[in-house]
Amino acid sequence: MSAQIIDGKAIAATIRGEIKAEVDAMQTRYSQVPGLATVLVGERKDSQTYVRMKKKACAEVGIASFSHDLPADISQADLLKVVQDLNAHPEVNGILVQLPLPDHINEEEILSAISLTKDVDGFHPINIGRLSMKRRAPLFVPCTPKGCIELLDRSGVEIEGRRAVVLGRSNIVGLPVAMLLLHRNATLTICHSRTQNLPQIVREADILIAAVGRPEMVKGDWIKPGAVVIDVGMNAVDDPAAAKGYRLVGDVAFDEAREVASAITPVPGGVGPMTIAMLLRNTLDGAKRTLE
Ligand code: NDP
Repeated sequence: MSAQIIDGKAIAATIRGEIKAEVDAMQTRYSQVPGLATVLVGERKDSQTYVRMKKKACAEVGIASFSHDLPADISQADLLKVVQDLNAHPEVNGILVQLPLPDHINEEEILSAISLTKDVDGFHPINIGRLSMKRRAPLFVPCTPKGCIELLDRSGVEIEGRRAVVLGRSNIVGLPVAMLLLHRNATLTICHSRTQNLPQIVREADILIAAVGRPEMVKGDWIKPGAVVIDVGMNAVDDPAAAKGYRLVGDVAFDEAREVASAITPVPGGVGPMTIAMLLRNTLDGAKRTLE
């Protein structure tokens, strides 16, 4: 039996439609729209692409965006000043500092300087700390992890009481998604590069979240029959037949896994579109909190 494909692109489009309706209502009621500030340091092509996609998505739902494209050699003090000015800016409800920052910048200090009420990426240590504690709701939850849970919810997947396995423990994906699953009462195992007997542990998962950044590492025979698979991985692999000379694959061997799983996200078109939809959602929620 072939798995149900969890169509992240379609689900994200639905969410963007919901957000647009709420932004329009805010505009009518308060003559105001949410605002997102993007802070891009340097000229990394991938970072420029991500920021461009985020600004385009804002425009499509009526969220205002404020761009700050800064030179790669900006000082720590000057970057801090940009963040502080945005904290005080009344039309900015969310501040997104595109990572990674150059090596000479202390990333933790910059992320900690973002106002808690504008931390739409959810990376402020206090928001992450609250996410990790019982009965302490963070103001914002990181976008990719939040998108994974939204995909499960909107696909009707029960989380409570199920065995969940998360592959990866990074600050931006693995750890926060694990915390979210725990809050939803899954029984949780977190795996990483030193985990022994990985296939055996993965085989216990009713819900598998793969976020390791290793192309097609998870094989079909690692998957428990009927499991739900959320593949966060985005890996470029050489493909001379593709127009760009490469194609994107996930951390899961999709063709094998879909024959065993009950539901699975594709790459691309699974988790990726949800990340941006959740950023828009967080920005709108921040604006609503300020207005209400
Ligand atoms: P990181 O490199 O920060 O973390 C990778 C994690 O995987 C680490 O915890 C690492 O373990 C673990 N790991 C690495 N190799 C193995 C292995 N062989 N077996 C078991 N665990 C392993 O990556 P990110 O969390 O930032 O990203 C993960 C993937 O998700 C990437 O492909 C990235 O492109 C993608 N991504 C997709 C997004 C989207 O919007 N769709 C957004 C963000 C990321 P250890 O801690 O021991 O080193």
